[in-house]
Amino acid sequence: MTTTQENLNRLLNELKDTKVKLVAVSKYHPVEMLREAYDAGQRIFGESHVQEMDAKHDVMPKDIEWHFIGHLQTNKVKYIAPYVAMIHAVDTLKLLKEIDKQAEKASRTVDCLLQVHVAKEETKFGFLPNELRTMLDEEDWKSLHHVRIRGLMCMATNTDNQEQIHEEFKTVKQLYEELKVRHFCHEDSFTELSMGMSEDYKIAIEEGSTMIRVGSLIFGARNY
Ligand SMILES: *Cc1c(COP(=O)(O)O)cnc(C)c1O
Repeated sequence: MTTTQENLNRLLNELKDTKVKLVAVSKYHPVEMLREAYDAGQRIFGESHVQEMDAKHDVMPKDIEWHFIGHLQTNKVKYIAPYVAMIHAVDTLKLLKEIDKQAEKASRTVDCLLQVHVAKEETKFGFLPNELRTMLDEEDWKSLHHVRIRGLMCMATNTDNQEQIHEEFKTVKQLYEELKVRHFCHEDSFTELSMGMSEDYKIAIEEGSTMIRVGSLIFGARNY
C-alpha cells in the first residue's frame, strides 16, 4: 500500500461510523497520486483550478465525481459545466446564474453550495450571513432550474484558537438550519454542509459537517 492509500484509509476509518463524505482535495498533485486514491476506492475529488481539473478529468476514470472547491470566475464556468458534480464555493448570484446558464447548455443540473464568509480574514470569499439572507429572500434564484442549491460551504479562520473555529462552524450550522426552514423545507435536497479541512475537520464534524475537504492529510504537502 502507498502512503497516499494508508492516509486515505486512516481517514476513511475515522469516518466509517458517520455519514460524513470525504472530498479528497487533489489540487497541485499529479494524476499518479489521484490514481492511487482511486485504486483504494476514492471517487470524490476536489480541485480548485479549472484548467487543472479539466486536464485531470480528461485522463482519469469516468466514474469520478469532480467537485470544484475553489473560487470560480464566471468566465470559466463553461469549461466545467459539462461534467462537474458539485460547485462548493458559489459566492454571488451572478455566478449562480452563469452556472445555471452553462448547465442548461450542457443539458444538466449542477449541484451547488453557497459559500458563507465567517472567517476573520480579508482574503476569504463568500456571502456574509445577512447578504445570503437577502439574496435568498429576493427569490431571483428560484427561476434557475439548472442549478440545485444543496447546502452551504465555509472555511474557518486559519488559527490555533480551537474555540474560534468551533464558533465559526457553529454559526454556519445555525444559518444552515435557519435557511433550510425558511427556503428549502419543501425540498429534500438541501442537505449538505461542506466544512472542515486537514487542520480542522474533526471540529467541523463535531459541529455538523456532512462533507469534509481534505488534501494535505491524504496527499502530503503541495508543491506550488
Ligand atoms: C486546498 C483546499 C482544501 C484542502 O486543504 P488541506 O489543508 O490541504 O486539507 C479545502 N478546501 C478548500 C476550499 C481548499 O482550497
